[in-house]
Amino acid sequence: MSPIFEDSPRFRGLRRRLVEKIAARGITDQAVLRAMERVPRHFFTEPTLIEHAYEDRALPIACKQTISQPYTVAYQTQLLAVQPGHRILEIGTGSGYQTAILCEMGGEVYSVELERLLYERAKALLEQLGYKASLRWGDGHLGWPSFAPFDRILLTAGAEEVPPTLFGQLKEGGRLVAPIGKPPQQIMRLYIKEKGRLICEEKGLFRFVPLRRRELS
Ligand code: SAH
Repeated sequence: MSPIFEDSPRFRGLRRRLVEKIAARGITDQAVLRAMERVPRHFFTEPTLIEHAYEDRALPIACKQTISQPYTVAYQTQLLAVQPGHRILEIGTGSGYQTAILCEMGGEVYSVELERLLYERAKALLEQLGYKASLRWGDGHLGWPSFAPFDRILLTAGAEEVPPTLFGQLKEGGRLVAPIGKPPQQIMRLYIKEKGRLICEEKGLFRFVPLRRRELS
């Protein structure tokens, strides 16, 4: 492992304080907090931004994208109500940090990323760290039909509407969490599929990079 993938008592201390701060902001799911205490976020930030990895804010990554703010990661993951063994589809792998959190919680994770460079980097990093997520370079609007249906679906990019295909890939009793709305702000929506119908709850306001469509080169 290269020196960049070294945890340290100092980073562990900063991480514990960050988790305490997130808990104080209202995250009560202990499994979420435990996972956040275990995953070294500084492995997932740009090397030049390591010193900011345990501040509660989004940071830039390659391809003009961002690694979400830790509170936002915790908030979305808590809404998802992940149980060990759940089959989870994530749209927007980005740095792979959220993917690692879902793996730590015992999820069987499938994650799709539109940007090839981010896909390649996250794949290499997650493998190196021993996380067994399945990653794919592609357009998340299509979901991942060959592994559907999913217990949980998470969008980590802001969409004007949930791509309808994704609802089709959600199991009965499943949950889908997505930030919905035009830039600059989205409202977090939680959908629960019950008896074939979708129940929707609207939660807090957040800012996400947009879910895009792009010709894959
Ligand atoms: N979960 C990520 C957050 C990344 S930001 C993390 O923890 O770092 C959202 C990501 O969604 C970006 O990497 C962006 O490239 C990706 N994205 C945008 N549109 C997409 C699409 N249609 N399909 C898949 N990924 C997409």
